[in-house]
Amino acid sequence: MTIAFDNSYGRLPDRFYARLDPVPVGQPSLIALNRPLAADLGLDVDMLASAEGVAMLAGNRVPDGALPLAQAYAGHQFGGFVPQLGDGRAILLGEVIGRDGLRRDIQLKGSGRTPFSRGGDGRAWLGPVLREYIVSEAMHALGIPTTRALAAVASGEPVVRETVLPGAVFTRVASSHIRVGTFQYFAARRDGEALRLLVDHALARHYPDRMEAENRPLALLDAVAAAQARLIAEWMRVGFIHGVMNTDNMLVSGETIDYGPCAFMDAYHPRTVYSSIDRQGRYAFVNQPGIAQWNLAQLATALLPVIAGDTDKAVEKAQAVVDGFADRFNAAMGGVLHAKLGLERSEDDDDALARDLLTAMADNEADHTNLFRALSDLPANGGPQTDEAARSLFVDPAAFDRWAGKWRARLEREGRSDEQRTAAMKAANPAFIPRNHRIEAVIAAALDGDLAPFHDLNAVLARPYADQPDHAGYASPPQAHEVVQATFC
Ligand code: AMP
Ligand code: MG
Ligand code: MG
Repeated sequence: MTIAFDNSYGRLPDRFYARLDPVPVGQPSLIALNRPLAADLGLDVDMLASAEGVAMLAGNRVPDGALPLAQAYAGHQFGGFVPQLGDGRAILLGEVIGRDGLRRDIQLKGSGRTPFSRGGDGRAWLGPVLREYIVSEAMHALGIPTTRALAAVASGEPVVRETVLPGAVFTRVASSHIRVGTFQYFAARRDGEALRLLVDHALARHYPDRMEAENRPLALLDAVAAAQARLIAEWMRVGFIHGVMNTDNMLVSGETIDYGPCAFMDAYHPRTVYSSIDRQGRYAFVNQPGIAQWNLAQLATALLPVIAGDTDKAVEKAQAVVDGFADRFNAAMGGVLHAKLGLERSEDDDDALARDLLTAMADNEADHTNLFRALSDLPANGGPQTDEAARSLFVDPAAFDRWAGKWRARLEREGRSDEQRTAAMKAANPAFIPRNHRIEAVIAAALDGDLAPFHDLNAVLARPYADQPDHAGYASPPQAHEVVQATFC
């Protein structure tokens, strides 16, 4: 079995990784294969679905051309620096060049212990594997940069957590797995040569137009800041809470990674936290831009030795990039809110209009997704009689009416027809998100051997902006007894 791997990370020096094969599992069986993605990557889809392919996706068979390795990285976890993390339960099989000409990593997650494992068993159980599959593919369908799900395979082996659970291996695809923490790993070792190599490697892969910059580390920092500002605004567009924005979970490519304790909000509240390990609310919904900036400051700090060696005033320039993140994020978020409100032009009071709605939504426990989707369908010349779908989502519908009056006054100064505006708003305001209670129900069914709910949910989430018939209630928020209070890594 041969895949046309081209392993650029494996050509970096030995100290970037540990070379080892995945640890085989007892009895692999395919749970899901993402055929469209496999085709985009130029992989042989039928081969992947065959026993030989499943053996590869389980880590039982290393295909020709692969160069399996565990990547070294460090990271700030909840604000505390850990100088060595690394892939403790993941193996990079290698890189492929897709039909679009872009290079992507193929990584197995849950593939056994590595030299970076520290305490853990190197394995994953079925629940988090299905969760990552669902949510990362939903993010992709929402148009948000993300790692992808190529496959999920049951290992046929138990893993021991609080109880004994079925094991699984996840195949992740990413533009790269280079993290802020990868730079921190070498900075902590005062390894300037490795930092320079990694800067060049990351620029070549992700920001090739910046390769000619006078100060390449600074150019990389700037590119990452721009990508993260856009990414965080996109998360907030759809009510996504990452939950564990440690610096080892921030990719320099600007793709979302690590779907451990993530969740989409149902009722809007800026301070929402789901992650069971985020006891202080460090990674609450509204804190995400500030945390991204904090993480960028850590990237700047890691790069400083090689930035400063390059040009005069480089330190000041790095500081300016970090400081400038707020403006970049606010510009991106302003655009997002404009689109969500159906505004094409820009006026000074638009931010206040958006803030007023969000405040009223928080006060009224309005469902984030459904409120904006309902808003998309409202006529410009309407009122309480036309607005039931939106106003009924407010505890106090009159609060919605008051805001809607201001919104309509603003819409009068826009040039678009209702039809045009509704179409534009529906492209910014999805109808379907991977709601937590549905993911939990999918996992519970899968533990009972029923994968139909998993496949049904994925099919709906593949077209999140379409007005799909919704007999199964995928657009509905959880009922009181269905609410998921906490998520786990
Ligand atoms: P992750 O949730 O994959 O982002 O893991 C964060 C860190 O914890 C990484 O350094 C992993 O190596 C380590 N880790 C988490 N779970 C396990 C596990 N089951 N076995 C080994 N290492 C683990
Ligand atoms: Mg992680
Ligand atoms: Mg994780």
